Amino acid sequence: MIQKMNTIQFDINLLVRDNVKGLKPYSSARDEYVSDGTDMVFLDANENPYDNGVNRYPDPQQRNLKAVLANQKGVSAHNILLGNGSDEVLDLLFRAFCEPKLDNIITLPPTYGMYKVLANINNIEEREILLTENFQPNVKSILQATDVNSKIIFLCSPNNPTGNSFSEEHILQILESFKGLVVIDEAYIDFSDKNSWIAKIKEYPNLVITQTLSKAYGLAGIRLGLCYGSEEIIGVLNKIKPPYNVNELTQKRALERVLDIDQVTSEVSSILNERANLVKELAKLEFVNKIYQTDANFVLVKVDDANLRYDQLLEKGVVVRNRSTQPLCQNTLRFTVGTQDENIKLIEVLKNI
Ligand SMILES: *Cc1c(COP(=O)(O)O)cnc(C)c1O
Repeated sequence: MIQKMNTIQFDINLLVRDNVKGLKPYSSARDEYVSDGTDMVFLDANENPYDNGVNRYPDPQQRNLKAVLANQKGVSAHNILLGNGSDEVLDLLFRAFCEPKLDNIITLPPTYGMYKVLANINNIEEREILLTENFQPNVKSILQATDVNSKIIFLCSPNNPTGNSFSEEHILQILESFKGLVVIDEAYIDFSDKNSWIAKIKEYPNLVITQTLSKAYGLAGIRLGLCYGSEEIIGVLNKIKPPYNVNELTQKRALERVLDIDQVTSEVSSILNERANLVKELAKLEFVNKIYQTDANFVLVKVDDANLRYDQLLEKGVVVRNRSTQPLCQNTLRFTVGTQDENIKLIEVLKNI
């Protein structure tokens, strides 16, 4: 299907790998007979019949969870794919759209390390275009680096480890000029006052959004990643995902949590209060040279000597992330915002080193 975008033609068939186009997906027992709630005798999946809460295979399409998410995010369930963490979702994007040893993807360091690792695992060339000095995408260089084999541009906004969001104008320029997929990783969107790009998936058929329950939702341990995009894109990913990639315990816990959205919002607001406190206190320290603006639940800080300060913190029982090896991040430490007690301890330690 061809859809008109502002200036370019987008055709998903030009992006999907040939083997994926021709693939007949695995058909599970739960795909072939979809329960409508009627009391049936299930003898179709070689399960153990004795009920212990998880003796049955999980719903391969996670219908209950998707129904709630679709409603909250204002999209259809057909615009959503769920995975075993964002990491699986990102890997599925590579496997669906990037031909090993032929295609390439674009990343914008300093950024989340998994895009590069997944490119390497999938044998896809990774082209790196550094962010500008103020951590914004260098649109001109990005577009110049693309060619017919460029399949995905990864934008992480708010960006990890810098914390800032990319400007709407820059993102729009990329969306409107690139014929491949533009993946916006919104792992930290719930800590930001900026709008999610999910609302734009109808307008931009090349737009894919990933989110996660690992950060604001406090469920890193259950592994639940989310992907939003056109029905065509989600359909392709559905075709190649492992049938039972989101287990029953994860579906249950995730559903409870997304239904308890007020609790999530209240925790996020506490974290934002603590973030403001932390920034205020960090600014008083003489060995802190710069505190970067952040839309996330962490703060990137430039110090006099990151290795020294990292070791001193470790000695006092506080583990932070030294991001100094990342480009444009010399002598930086990344502080995740903790509880009030944890932040009091952190500040006390920082004042005494
Ligand atoms: C933490 C993080 C994720 C989360 O990954 P999961 O696999 O869902 O836990 C994704 N993207 C970015 C940029 C992150 O920092």
